[in-house]
Formats: sequence, C-alpha cells, structure tokens
Amino acid sequence: MGFEQSSFEHDKRKVILSEEVFARLQGLINATAFNKQLTDGSRIKNGYEYGGVLYGTLDEEGNINFTVANDKADYQVIDGAFSLQSGKEMMKELLMNIKNSKFNCFAHVHTHPYSVEANRFLSDADVEYYKTTFDFSGVESSLEKKVNTFGCLLTQSSSNEPQSDDVSFVYFNKEDGKMYYLPNNFVKSRSTGTLYPLKKVREKLYRRNEDGRLFNEKQYRQQSGTFGVREVERTLLDTDEFEK
Ligand SMILES: [Zn+2]
Repeated sequence: MGFEQSSFEHDKRKVILSEEVFARLQGLINATAFNKQLTDGSRIKNGYEYGGVLYGTLDEEGNINFTVANDKADYQVIDGAFSLQSGKEMMKELLMNIKNSKFNCFAHVHTHPYSVEANRFLSDADVEYYKTTFDFSGVESSLEKKVNTFGCLLTQSSSNEPQSDDVSFVYFNKEDGKMYYLPNNFVKSRSTGTLYPLKKVREKLYRRNEDGRLFNEKQYRQQSGTFGVREVERTLLDTDEFEK
C-alpha cells in the first residue's frame, strides 16, 4: 500500500542542495517524465525510474548539505528491485566516497513516474530498503565517523508539469525505530551562497473506503464511492526566485 511521507515524524533541519545537485534532481525526474510518455504509447508496461546517489556533509547547525551527485547521470532502476548492487560502478563510487573524509551524508535517490496517485508516495519496498539495506552503520567504527543515510524520492506530478513534481528526503532513525521526513529544502547559490527555499504546498488526499485507492482533489470529483480525506504536505522541486 505504501507510505505517505509527510505522515512520518518531521525533522525541521534544512536540506541544502548545491546548484549541481538541484540540476541533477531536475534531470532525473525530467528523464522519467519523458520516458513515461514514450512507454505510454507502446507495449512496454512500466515507465522507467531513474536513480543515483548524493554526497554531502552536516554543517555546524546540523543541516544537511548535499554538494555532489554520483558520476553517471542516467541510472535506470526498478522499484523494489532497486539496489546499488545492480549498478556496479555506482556502488564502487559510493564505497570510495563512504571512506572519503569529505562526506558523511549519503542519499539514495530514485524517481517514480506517474500513473496513479499512489505513485507519489514511497512503496513498502522503498521504506524497507531505507530501513535495512541502505545502511552503512557497520563501517562507522572502522572509519571513525558517523555515516548518515537518507532516501530521496522524486515523483512526477499528475499534471505532468515540471514545477509540480516533488522531492521527499526521508531517513530511518535506528534509535527510535521511526521514519523521518525533511520538508525544508533549499538550493544554495554557487555565486552568492544565498539559500532559496523549494516551494511547499498542502494538498488534500482522498482514500476510497471500498478499495483503498488514492485520488487527488481533481480525480476524486470524477469518482464514486465514499472517501476518507486528509491533508498531505509536499515540497516541490521548484523555486520561484532561484536563477543562475
Ligand atoms: Zn520507489
């Protein structure tokens, strides 16, 4: 059934993306949307997902700064089966960078193309992956540093407008056994260092009681049945102000 990420515990720290990382995230979701259009007209059943890794560090205030993206820009992944082992070069690079004293934050990124509203949320397999597989705490003592791992989900919007695509940074906290969501995301200008916030929106999400299917405001009006409604938060992969 999946997980609606803004229902997780909230972590108010900032996630600060370099211009390079922001451009990479936009590229991944754009490639996803492009291939979705191609596959919709063909006999290929599933749209492609893309993925990668972000590297970064915590600053003095505890905010998470992602400065660099993995080398190869167009890794295809399959949900549930998405493992770094399937991308050997990416895994090799990640293991090198885990040892690199410059980095102590690592985000596993993947995209979801849009077919139904549930695609905008983390799947059960995604959450399981963050909890159990994307975890490098075992090497912390030998490296003498904390290795902070995150998930980053990029989802295509129902309207297929790039400015409505969204980004969700999450992580699993082993200490309390809870998933956390980081809604406060920024892009840092390379030239001035100014932080530009990514836009945040609140939307209504409808769950049909009869079959559990999820609908957004517009879709729900065209459906019959009885619905439960709740509000979800999204951070859009878009900032009004930021210009290079
Ligand atoms: Zn997924």
